[in-house]
Amino acid sequence: MVRKLAGSVRIASQLRGQRGVQFLQRERLEAKRDARVRDTVQHAAAHVPHYRDLFRRERIDAREIRSAGDLARLPLLSKEELHATPGRFLSDAMGAAPTLELSTTGTTGVPVSVVHDYRSLLANIAYGERERAAESSLAGGGRYSILEITREGSTSRRIRAFYDARTLRPGRLPYSTISVGEPIQRIIEAIERQRPDVVWSYAAFLETFFRLLVTREPPRYLPKVVSYGSGGMSAEGRSLIKNHFGLAVLSNYSAVEALKLAFLCEESAGFHIHEDLCDVRLLDPSGMAVAPGTSGEVVISNLVNRGTVLLNYRLGDMATAATESCACGRTSAVLAQVDGRIDEIVTLPSGELVLTVQVWDAIAGHPFISRWQLVQRTSRSFELRVVASDRTALEAAREELLAALRSRLPGAELDIVQVDDIPLRDGKFRPILPLETPVVKWPRFPA
Ligand SMILES: [Zn+2]
Repeated sequence: MVRKLAGSVRIASQLRGQRGVQFLQRERLEAKRDARVRDTVQHAAAHVPHYRDLFRRERIDAREIRSAGDLARLPLLSKEELHATPGRFLSDAMGAAPTLELSTTGTTGVPVSVVHDYRSLLANIAYGERERAAESSLAGGGRYSILEITREGSTSRRIRAFYDARTLRPGRLPYSTISVGEPIQRIIEAIERQRPDVVWSYAAFLETFFRLLVTREPPRYLPKVVSYGSGGMSAEGRSLIKNHFGLAVLSNYSAVEALKLAFLCEESAGFHIHEDLCDVRLLDPSGMAVAPGTSGEVVISNLVNRGTVLLNYRLGDMATAATESCACGRTSAVLAQVDGRIDEIVTLPSGELVLTVQVWDAIAGHPFISRWQLVQRTSRSFELRVVASDRTALEAAREELLAALRSRLPGAELDIVQVDDIPLRDGKFRPILPLETPVVKWPRFPA
């Protein structure tokens, strides 16, 4: 209880002012950002083996990295490198405070694990005020309720569980969850029963969910705001939710490697970057910065986490910087478009939906799987392609993997095929390749 109280006092002290950060004058926002860049780089030089060695070897003086622009002087870091030697990116200054280790699902390539330290996790609650400001204004102001449609063990559920165990969560909003694996009818009933102001889920799920709703009797209740994360939603999907159903659409862009990257504001025109929490650079294949309006690879430096410290890290997403500022008045830099992880849905002949994250749940826990892809060959037959670092381990786990996949893809014929590489398609890694002609045809809507 004392520990919970201490955690809550810490959060409460940081809550004040968060809503205003994104409206600060540019110079003040940049000063805040650059102070965090200096702190992070000096921490890395003193406490993180990879950077301690790098700076010594390359004769880089950490004190010379003084602004976000100077981060470009550091080499790029790949997921493969983090995957291979995660311990080299861990700060030795975490002490005994509890930490939280989160793993990616490998939807942008190699799966990685990232440790978040206690102080930055608690601060993240306060930073959430910035996104809650947009939600609150669209949900009618003041307190509002949220229903989250996620999977058991999702990153957001694990973070919430961490908070619930360690803080009293000042200002905590009424919040409930339902599993994304539930039948659609059960999810509709939960929304009708709980009447949440905001529904949050994965982009791919929400888009399919609302396409399905069009074909059904209208629900007795719909939320005011639909908020999505984990990948992009098509313009057609957003338009369907906004124009056909008349609901507001928000989104948060986050990653296991940086809990807060950017968010869509009330104007829905673009994603405001949390510049003082995470530096975002957009690069072309040669490593040069791309101009606004041109798509580039997202390279991040997490400026708050003192667990796994990542500078100039290739996140695996593509994004485009906006050419104009946003009408909402926030001064932070804006991404016009985030071509995030491609999170596709497989439709089974029974009409059941299977998401990338659900496939990942079947595969997770096998560290020898360094890449994977689920290919739908016919309406009911699938092939899981696996790049394995240990072939013997894959053979030993084959039956267990098949059983886990069968429980997510009921009635499907399944095969596991070991491959040397999984090629990109149109420059992107696609964890799920559904049939070109989907099993269920959705009605079309103008974008
Ligand atoms: Zn805005």
